[in-house]
Amino acid sequence: MNTKDMGFSTRQIHAARPEPIGPAPLATPIYQTSTYIFENTAQGAARFALEEPGYIYTRLHNPNGEEVAERIADLEGGEAGLLMSSGMGAITSTLWTWMQAGDNIVADATLYGCTYALFTEALPRLGITVHLVDFTDPKAIAAAIDSKTRYVYCETATNPDLKVNDIDMISKVAHEAKPDVLVVVDNTFTSPYLCRPLKHGADIVIHSVTKYLNGHGDVIAGVVVTTAERIQQIRVIGMKYMTGACSAPMDSFLICRGMKTLDIRMDRHCANALKVARFLDSHPAVNHVCYPGLENHPQHEVANRMFEHGGYGGVVSFELKCNKERTSEFVNNLKLCTLAVSLGDAITLIEHPASMTHNTYTVEALKEIGISESLLRMSVGLEDADDIIADLKAELDKIEVK
Ligand SMILES: *Cc1c(COP(=O)(O)O)cnc(C)c1O
Repeated sequence: MNTKDMGFSTRQIHAARPEPIGPAPLATPIYQTSTYIFENTAQGAARFALEEPGYIYTRLHNPNGEEVAERIADLEGGEAGLLMSSGMGAITSTLWTWMQAGDNIVADATLYGCTYALFTEALPRLGITVHLVDFTDPKAIAAAIDSKTRYVYCETATNPDLKVNDIDMISKVAHEAKPDVLVVVDNTFTSPYLCRPLKHGADIVIHSVTKYLNGHGDVIAGVVVTTAERIQQIRVIGMKYMTGACSAPMDSFLICRGMKTLDIRMDRHCANALKVARFLDSHPAVNHVCYPGLENHPQHEVANRMFEHGGYGGVVSFELKCNKERTSEFVNNLKLCTLAVSLGDAITLIEHPASMTHNTYTVEALKEIGISESLLRMSVGLEDADDIIADLKAELDKIEVK
């Protein structure tokens, strides 16, 4: 377009604007744009009517987000995926797509803290009830499902106590009780490298991409993977109208970069975590260790059946033989292990669930699911395992055990 005879305002925007050209970059460029140009009104109308594929507006889709979502769907063995601005954005956009007042959700009692708050505080305000039951008990799951149950919801490995949910059993029980119920699994802790819930009968898989999939502690994002038909509904209902939790192009670019090393990182996270778990299990100041890779873990066999690539994840929780104050002192004195929530980073992170990630639970509710004030959750990083263990040992040795 020749802008030579146009006004200053027009020229400051349009002058010398390059035509899109076609080099062949190795890395997908960042499509940092809010909207897309239509050739004419007919094309715009056809895209809005979903009759013609193509981009409209970044809240609906963007090439960077699509690349990540399709790649994760591929790794999960699902038909399609949708990247969102956070794990909570993915959870709400997905659940709200098919829910209305009067419906209910049957969920595992042990959940990520904000999912728990969504289920126990936010959804009841909208007329949706949530029945929390222990998902190791098939009878309890079946008994809680009724004609108004829309979803059966759980996490692959629970947060923070690392119980492993038997997705084969849960999906079978759920679908027998109500064939059209949707089994939704939050697979954040295992990543698609260690577990693929769709293969075990789940209908929908969700991740906080913030954690292992991105893996570098610099992005917040979420993803949902399921059939192409359901993804389209989540896109045009749950995400487009209800939450608006779309992914950002720059974040998608970073996730693409991080995901290239997912398998290598997971192998190291798992190897380091197993070493740390074995060390903690042998230390007299440690009451008990939650890690599915230990032979004494109650669902060790379930993990062996469901998990792939010989690993059990990078998160280890452990309870100290001391009170809350001494537990705080222990954490505060660690040097290499860093006090921060989140997980799946190269840096080893440690946190105190009762006062941090799970402060949405009441003290009684925490007791019921077995989380004490002396429990710590550790996301074992990619450092040398011996250095992580030395850091822990130096402080554990100082705890006086009666
Ligand atoms: C972090 C996390 C979430 C929430 O994800 P955000 O990206 O922080 O919104 C959900 N589920 C699990 C298991 C998580 O660890």
